[in-house]
Amino acid sequence: MRKSKNNENVPKRYYRPTLTTCPHCGAPLRRRCTLWHKYLVTLDGRVHVFSLGYSCSGPDCSPVIYRSMEAEQLSPKRYSFGFDVIVQIGWWRFWDHRTLDEIATLLKSHHLPVSRRHILYLIGDFLALLRAAQPAKIETQRAYFKRHGLILNLDGMEPEQGNEMLFVVREANLDLTLVAETLYSSRADLISRQLLEPVKALGFRIRAVISDADKNIRRAVEASLPGCPHQACQVHCLCEAGQPIFEADRAMKTDLRRDIRAKLRPISRVLSQWSLNDPQVAVLTDYCEALRDALRADGVSPFKLAGLMLYDELQRLETSLRRCQKKGGIPSCWPCWTSQSFATTMLNRMPN
Ligand SMILES: [Zn+2]
Repeated sequence: MRKSKNNENVPKRYYRPTLTTCPHCGAPLRRRCTLWHKYLVTLDGRVHVFSLGYSCSGPDCSPVIYRSMEAEQLSPKRYSFGFDVIVQIGWWRFWDHRTLDEIATLLKSHHLPVSRRHILYLIGDFLALLRAAQPAKIETQRAYFKRHGLILNLDGMEPEQGNEMLFVVREANLDLTLVAETLYSSRADLISRQLLEPVKALGFRIRAVISDADKNIRRAVEASLPGCPHQACQVHCLCEAGQPIFEADRAMKTDLRRDIRAKLRPISRVLSQWSLNDPQVAVLTDYCEALRDALRADGVSPFKLAGLMLYDELQRLETSLRRCQKKGGIPSCWPCWTSQSFATTMLNRMPN
């Protein structure tokens, strides 16, 4: 059963309008009522917030109620969580890439026990806020866009094959999202209507479009922005051009991995049989762990090549091992390293 909250020791906070005198007659403002009050969860803990309404004390003025802007900006209407909590959770989730459990732990460290389900709701609220704030963000760049026009960057992602696609239109110079929509299909008329027309409606000059070479996007741009220069995105081109190298690198990585894993297994087995008190065991176990870690590396097309990274890492480990051997940290019964492959060497030097 849900426990009711103990509100006894919750601190009270009163908010009054910044105006103290009537802007029409200059008479002092008097307190008239409490406009609203609620228990609010903020990053500093729970507070009982009161927003007080004031009006003119002069006899001839209309009974306008003045309120505190600061109080209105604490949280969304009828919400018990402050904007600070919602934004912090959104930041943890999307910028720090925290999981729900990690966020729950972080909130607990602020003395805010919030359930996983509720965190999920708050992440939804954060996304709604983010979307609602986008027009204001675009508006702050109005002068820039008026002077320089827009260079559009249009990209579509399909997280799961055959499902909806996420399309994002960004301004390339400022890296600012103008429109983001999920479309059930990548048809040209949908791209035109849902993405390009809303951008056109912003009323700025569109100087050029950058996208991949997708036919539907090309057709949509031709239909909505006739005569607008349309360039293929260099990153997409590089990815395509780099694909053969990326594939070759992946094949090399797979070979290296298979080779080293096969040689590492017997080494680990031998190490596990050695006495734990032997200081060399700790050193060699660390090397094995570093090696396993290096094998986990993954690449990103076109420039982050995992095979080459793994090769570099192996050389680094080999240099380190040689240094260690020179200092006498590695058993002298192990023969000197002659082979160029780190793993082969390591296996060779294991005593039989
Ligand atoms: Zn007045």
